[in-house]
Order: sequence, then C-alpha cells, then structure tokens
Amino acid sequence: MINISENLENLSWIPRPRLLALRRLGIETTEDLLTHFPRRHEDRTEFPQFPREETDAPICLCGEVIKTSVRRFGGWKKIFEATLEQAQPNALSEPLVCRWFNLHYVQKMIATGQRIVVFGRPRLRGKRICMDHPEFEVIENDEEISIHFRRITPIYPATEGLSPRVLRGIVYRVLREFPDAGWQPIAPSTLVRGERSDAIRAIHFPESWEARDAAREHLVLSEFFAMQMLIASRRFESSARAGQAHCGPGALLERFLKALPFELTAAQRKVVSEIQRDLAANYPMNRLLQGDVGSGKTVVAISAMLLAVEAGYQAAFMAPTQILAEQHYEVLRRWLEPLGVHIALRTAARQEESGPLPLFARNENPGSARLQRAGDGILPSRTFLESESTSGAHYSPRRLPHFEKPWAIYAVTITTAHRRGLGPEARNIVLNAWRHFHNTRYELFAICVMPDHVQALFQPWPKNEASREETKFWSLAELMRSLKSFTARDINRAEEKVGPVWEKETFDRYIRSDRDLVEKFHYILRNPWDAGVAKQNEEYPWIWTAEDEMRASRSSSPQNAATSTLQACAPQRLPVPRDPQITVGTHALLYESVSFSNLGLAVIDEQHKFGVAQRARLTAREPAPDTLVMTATPIPRTLTMTIYGDLDVSTIDEMPGNRGKIVTAVRDTAKLGEVLSFLRTQLEKGRQLYVIYPLIDESDKLNVKAAAAEYELWRERLHPFGCELLHGRIPAPEKQQIMDRFRRGDTNALISTTVLEVGVDVANATMVLIENAERFGLAQLHQLRGRIGRGEHKSYCILLSSSQAKEASAKLAVLERTTNGFEVAEADWELRGPGDVLGTAQSGLPALKIGDLKRDVELMRRARAAAMSIFEMDARLELPENQRFRRLIVEQQGQSFSHVS
Ligand code: ADP
Ligand code: MG
Repeated sequence: MINISENLENLSWIPRPRLLALRRLGIETTEDLLTHFPRRHEDRTEFPQFPREETDAPICLCGEVIKTSVRRFGGWKKIFEATLEQAQPNALSEPLVCRWFNLHYVQKMIATGQRIVVFGRPRLRGKRICMDHPEFEVIENDEEISIHFRRITPIYPATEGLSPRVLRGIVYRVLREFPDAGWQPIAPSTLVRGERSDAIRAIHFPESWEARDAAREHLVLSEFFAMQMLIASRRFESSARAGQAHCGPGALLERFLKALPFELTAAQRKVVSEIQRDLAANYPMNRLLQGDVGSGKTVVAISAMLLAVEAGYQAAFMAPTQILAEQHYEVLRRWLEPLGVHIALRTAARQEESGPLPLFARNENPGSARLQRAGDGILPSRTFLESESTSGAHYSPRRLPHFEKPWAIYAVTITTAHRRGLGPEARNIVLNAWRHFHNTRYELFAICVMPDHVQALFQPWPKNEASREETKFWSLAELMRSLKSFTARDINRAEEKVGPVWEKETFDRYIRSDRDLVEKFHYILRNPWDAGVAKQNEEYPWIWTAEDEMRASRSSSPQNAATSTLQACAPQRLPVPRDPQITVGTHALLYESVSFSNLGLAVIDEQHKFGVAQRARLTAREPAPDTLVMTATPIPRTLTMTIYGDLDVSTIDEMPGNRGKIVTAVRDTAKLGEVLSFLRTQLEKGRQLYVIYPLIDESDKLNVKAAAAEYELWRERLHPFGCELLHGRIPAPEKQQIMDRFRRGDTNALISTTVLEVGVDVANATMVLIENAERFGLAQLHQLRGRIGRGEHKSYCILLSSSQAKEASAKLAVLERTTNGFEVAEADWELRGPGDVLGTAQSGLPALKIGDLKRDVELMRRARAAAMSIFEMDARLELPENQRFRRLIVEQQGQSFSHVS
C-alpha cells in the first residue's frame, strides 16, 4: 500500500530515467502524479472507419502501417510518410497517409507492420487523405490493450523522455495500487458531488463521457474552491486590519455635487453610496471601481475623497502618468478650491500646493516602510517581492543585464583596484556619495565602506517615474557606473593621484529571501570587527544604515563621526505646513518622502497600470486607510473573481447621457488621402484631433526620430491647422504646456504616442486616428478610443492599418462593432488563445491544473460563493469542521496563515 505523499522513487517498478523525466514535470509524489491531469481524452472504445473526406474536427483512428517512406525537399528537409490501412479494410476504404516534416525521431519509431493510433485532422491533399503531424501511439502488445485501448483513453501532455503512453501506464498502475482512503476531500460536500478519490480515478480512466465530465466538475470545483479560500482569507485578513471610519456627514459632498455642471448618473450615485457605506464602517475598505472609459469615475473618486476630508482625514489620489496626475490636479483645483479644500500635487517633475505653503515635510516617523537594524528583529518592509512582476514595468529579460530585476534588493560588493586602499577621507567620499542618491535613485538600507571594498544593501528605484508612460528602473549597471566614476574622480582629486580606484568587476547578488536579507545585513554591520579592521568596542564610522540616519536626525544626542557627516548633508527640514487635504500624484507618492499624517483614503486610478505591490505600499500603514482602486479595463468575470477576488467590486455600467456617438472605422493606409479630407472638415468645425503612433519603446532614439519625422509630415498634411508633438521623452514641464495648449484649443491636433493612453480628458477632441492600429492590443485600442466621445459632439475613431493579416482584421472589426468595454474585453479574451491567462501570474495566485478561467465561469462562481460563506460564518476557521481548510490555505500560500492564530 502506498500513500498520497509517497515519493515515486519508493515504488520499485518505475525505472530511473522515467523518474527523472517525471521530475522535470514537477512530479515527485503519487499525489503529484495523480493530479497531473489528462489534457484531453480519446474515445478508443471503437475506432471509426477511415474517412474519405476531410473534416474540421480532429479524429482518432487506428490502423496498420503498410508502407513508410522518406522524401526530401528543399535540400536538407525531409518528409516522413507512413501509410495506414484500417483493421478490416473493405472495398471502399481509403488508406490514410500520415506525414511528419523534419521530425527524425518519428521515423525511428514507426515501422511497417505496426499497429498505430493517430489523432489529427484528415485533409484532402491531391487525391490522398492525409494527416499532417498527427499525435500517434504505437500499439506494442495486446496486453496493453486494456490500458490504452478499448476505452476512453487519457492523453497527457507529452514531455521529453516520457511519451503519453508511458505516463498513462504509470498512472494506471499507481491508481490500481492506491487505496482510496488516502485522498482528503478539498471542497465541502455541499459544493461537490462524490468522493475526491472517485473523481481522480475517473478523470484518468473514465467509464463514460458523463463520468469524465462529472469528475472534471468535481476537480475543477475543488481547485477553484482552494483558490477562492486563499483569496477569501486574504480578503478577510485585510478587512481584519485595524481600520477607522473615514466618513464625514456629507455636507461638503452635497456642496460639491450642487456646483457640478451636470447631474451624476444613477450608476455613479449607486457607487458613491456603496463607497459611503464602506467609509463609514470601521474596517478598511478594499473596493474596486470598474467603469468603462469615460463613464465618469473621477467624479466618484472626488466624492469619496470629500467624505474623507470632511471627516478630518487626508486623501491620496494616485495616477499612473504625469499627464494624468496633472489633469486630475487641475480638475480638483477647479472644483474643490472654491469649497476651500487644500490640494497638493506631487510628481517627480513637479510639486505644488494650492495656497502659499511650503513643500512636504520629511517624514519624521520612521514609519512602516523603513528598515530597522536587523538586530532589532524587525525586517525591512519588503512590499515588493522579487517574484512579482510589476505591471507596466519597462523591461524585458533580454534588455536587462544578467541579474537585474526591478524591485529586487541587491547586496553589492565593490572592490578597490589593485593596491588602492581607501583612506579615511576617501571613505567619507564614498559614504557620502552613496548617501547622496539615497531616496532618489535607490533606497539604501545599509552600507559599509572598508579600506579595500564597499558593501551595500539597496533597492533601485523607478527613474523619472512620472514623466513616462511606463515605469523604468535605475539599472544596477547605471547605478554602479555613476557611483564609481563619481567617487573615483573625487578620491583621485583628494589624494592627488590618477588611475583607476575601483575594480572593473563587482560581485553582486540579489536577495532571495528574508533570511538572506538578515544574514547579509548582519554581515555588513559586523564586517569591520569580523575582519579585524576595527577593534572590539571601537567605533567604525564608515557604516551607515537607514535606521541610524533616522535616529540621528531625530535626536541631538552625541553622534558618531558618520552620522554627523551625514547630518550635514541631509536635506534641511522645513517647518510643517498645514497638511494638504488631498494629494494628487504619480508613483512619486510611493517613493518620495511624502508624509501623510492621517491618511484616510487612498484612491488609485487606472489600477491595472500599477502592480499589486504598489497598492500594498500605499496602504501599508496603521490604522489602514480605506482603499479605492479604479480601472477602465474591464476583464471577464472569471478573472474579476480571481485577480480582484479580494476586493469588493462596484461597477459603473452607464455612460453619462450627454455623449455624442463614437463612430469607429478601419481604413487601409492607402486611403489616407480620403481620411485626411474628412479630418479637415471636422477641424474646420473647430473639433480637435489626436494622431497616435505605436512607438513600442520610447527610450529608443530611432523611434523618437521616426515620430519627429512623422510629425513634420503631419504638419504639412494638416496645414494651416496647428499641431504639436507629444511623447514620453519630452521633459515633463514641456509636456504639460503642450497639453495645456491643446486643452485650451490653441493647437488643433496632437501627434502623440501612447502617453495618451489613459485618462486624458478633452471634450472637444472628437477624432483619434491610430496609425498601424494592428500593432496595438484590443484593450489598448479601446483605451485610446476612450480619449474621444467625451463631449456632446459626434466622434470618430479611425484605425489605419495596412496589414492584411486575418487576426488583425478580426481584432479591429471588434472595435467597429462595439464601443462597450466589456464586450471588447470578452472578444479580446476569445481572440487570445486559451492558456493566455492574462494577469493571473501577476496576482500571485497558484497556477491552475485543471480549471479553465475561460470556460468555467459558473464553477468559479459557485466555488467562490462556498468559500465566502465559510469565511462569513467562521472567519478565523475555528469550527472543528473548518479546521481542515487551514491546511489548504497554508499549503497554497506557502507560509503560515497569520490571521488564524
Ligand atoms: P473615466 O471614467 O474614463 O475616468 P472621467 O472621470 O474622466 O471618465 O469622465 C469623463 C468626462 O465625463 C469628464 O469630463 C467628466 O467631467 C464628465 N462626466 C462625469 N460624470 C458625468 C455626468 N454624470 N454627466 C456628464 N458628464 C460627466
Ligand atoms: Mg479616468
């Protein structure tokens, strides 16, 4: 008898090479093996007659190989053909020709006289019926027939060194030897029918198609249930954080709504009242506001912020781009200053407050995001796990040097050049240089400058984060280069020497775990004493930690040499102003020393442009602020239930009534002339135009050049109407002026890149022309189209495309058909192949083994309801019957379930 977690190695009958192949699939135990589910099943109870026509659906056939041949074409390429004949051929039966191109191993596996089973689409090729690249299996002996044939047969994804048939044989035997009692149920019996053990057996070797379907349903529900338990635990964990009520009586909101030039739509009112309820409750709000582009989410966000402000709290409003943050700031000033609300803008490029008040004070409180000495037992708050991919982060593995990862904490050691030691003065220079970029290019946790090397622990920051459409990080290489050249120059000058100061190569690594971090931290702090550079009980002044600096800046107690030098170059603290009540900003809100003395509500606009971790970073403080995240990228419901499953969802499902229609048309580039003359008639009526270019990478000089060249072309084409060029590389203040001129109507057209993708709101702009539209994704095109149709005039979206490709035209046709974002999202989902589980990797949820987010919506809904109801009745999972679910959650998140004590 074997048990569920038995290592397969202990089953003496599996040969070693097979074990290794299984391990490559991540299969080590019997449970791993039996939950490696078939990809599909084949009905081999009876094989059909060989076809005489081609069919669209793939079919499964069995026959004898009567001939094989190899043909060459195009020089070295080969086609291997095997001709099959069906078991009892009759006068009408046609042979089937199976062909494989350039697959040498197939040729070695198939020989005349064998019986083989093939699966594929029969096609008519000339007069012959062919199957190209069918999946196949050779029937070796009749004993095996009972496992592999005469039944509904499971087909597993093949892998190197492990054919589906071998895998099937192993699964069959393990199932036979395996006692049913070994399986723990996952889902409650109210959710699933039957036993897990039966479902497992039936998914591999079903007695009938119905049994297979029932087994699949059981297993999918179990899988979804486990996932939803994890989501529910997160959800209950976050709502169990200490929160406060942040809701004023509503008089301020009332005044705001009265002054608005329009009435809220019913949908907007509904959402405002949902938020109001959450704000008034004393647990933290975690709400997602979904609403199509142009549905009026900003007004809802403002309403929520006013409720918090009236209750005496601060609100933060974070947007993904500088253009958008500036726009929000303008709107807020226009609408809220008359109400006496004090507003501030904070982007990397600009800091401003309404009213003559100084800038933000530095945060005096080390707060939650700060590092303490590891010895204190408190770790740096790592809101950014290395495994998280930050959405929109501007990097691709290929462009990064071998080790660089955004959001990783690095431990770096730089050694000095041969025979260059660092004297005390040089060490000061190095320490100050590193300190200099702290909080601008990276967050420095600890550094130690030794006589012959430097060790530092730090996390790179985004670069100019607000001035670009996408986040780009300081790369390790850039940081090292500038630090080294900066210090080398000064050290040489101070020591009146020439020549290299530093070694070319640095040893580095990124920190993989908290343990790693603590270890490295201790190591750095102990290094001078461990290395004998400093005596025990002697101070070593060239060690610095973020914590020291904070301590030093808070007390006037005697300090050591390092901290006093550091204090000298620390920024002057400004007198504390009356805090702004609403702070609008970009990522800068996260990284700069923005202080919120009593943040009550954080609103994140265009949430999909941020990572999950960034949301956590803004709201990681005690007591927890209420959080409202907004997105205009609708996603199919199954995904909402997973990616945003830990949030409450509000939806604005209605557009303001004063909207002109949007007409969308796909045009061939060759028709540009006609398009132009149409655009001109609209420009003459005073309307404005966006022309959008698909610049993939804005940092690419060539692309910028191309845009500039195109811009010249457009100036001629649109003459005498004025146009301007806008792209991500334009410095922020200038960008702002360009937007202002467009908003005022001084310019008629903007030639731009996707910097305009989100949020930009100019009601008089009624035309958008998108060049090379086929290069954009559907969701992105929908967003770009969302820039128009924001006023009462009829609007026009023209998608220029030269591509004849079928998928491209299917994609663009979707936009011609509908302006509804949810429909676009569903179509997008359909057009992307299966397996493209958009965004789930980013959500940190476990990968699915059997469930399909696309087809199993209903099962997901049921699983979710079951999980939620368990948590609603017993949030701490204390009831005896709920004990077993704890294990489920702990296993999935790979760490202890902190909420359950
Ligand atoms: P989005 O949901 O895409 O962020 P915005 O909040 O930018 O949309 O709103 C788009 C435009 O619609 C703004 O100019 C806004 O002032 C206007 N608007 C919002 N709500 C209404 C309404 N109820 N009636 C008329 N116009 C509205
Ligand atoms: Mg918006």
